[in-house]
Amino acid sequence: MKLKRIIALAAAAAMVFSLAACGSNGGNAQGSAEAEGGAEKDTLIMATNAAFPPYEYVEDNEIVGIDAEIAGAIAEDLGMTLQIDDMEFDSIIPAITTGKADIGVAGMTVTEDRLQNVAFSDSYATGVQVIIVPEDSDITSPDDLANDKMIGVQQGTTGHIYCADTPENGGFGEEHVSAFPNGASAVEALKSGKVDCVVIDNEPAKAFVEQNEGLKILDTEFVVEDYAIAVAKDNDELLEKINASLAKLKEDGTLQQIIDKYITAE
Ligand code: GLN
Repeated sequence: MKLKRIIALAAAAAMVFSLAACGSNGGNAQGSAEAEGGAEKDTLIMATNAAFPPYEYVEDNEIVGIDAEIAGAIAEDLGMTLQIDDMEFDSIIPAITTGKADIGVAGMTVTEDRLQNVAFSDSYATGVQVIIVPEDSDITSPDDLANDKMIGVQQGTTGHIYCADTPENGGFGEEHVSAFPNGASAVEALKSGKVDCVVIDNEPAKAFVEQNEGLKILDTEFVVEDYAIAVAKDNDELLEKINASLAKLKEDGTLQQIIDKYITAE
């Protein structure tokens, strides 16, 4: 089951990539925006959920993190000013489909369901769903979650979707899942014993375990995923520009520098 999901995600990502590759125009976005003398929007609005360290979090009243910096570098490349709007994770895709935001950058995993509503850029990072447990937990592998455990997740995330799925589909059933508005509140529930574990992306998991004593991350990868930038389905022009910028940032090393600034290699 799990393997099937990973393959489906990879196929979806490959499709997005090949579509983007066909439409690439060499990326002279900045010049053309200037030539049109302000006819194009000069603010790029990014929707995110700034409770997902190290990708996005609040520090000194400012939203910082890998995604914020990548979006900043893309905006700069496009000659635009970045505006970051913080909201619940669940509100990001609706913000894009209604035109309130131009891009969703939130450690967001490419899934077939989301592809029904938005388009995704080329992937810029990999995420892994992991399991956080108390240090003395009897949960030692994903299989143990089937033993009548209560699983804490973040509302609307892939961890939530997988865990709440039926056992036939590799999940544990909705009755075994408790959804919280963000990862931090799920971890609080874990500390107070309201849930037995938290399923969440690996990098935020590391940050939460560092900030809270008595917790550990199980050494098993639950599901491997691709993170990408969400864009409105009909906005091919913006998608192409973003993919061209991302390609530049990958090639000139900026993307890796941003990641290295926030994630120390193991
Ligand atoms: N990668 C997960 C998802 O896309 C979680 C993202 C998040 O909580 N910001 O659902």
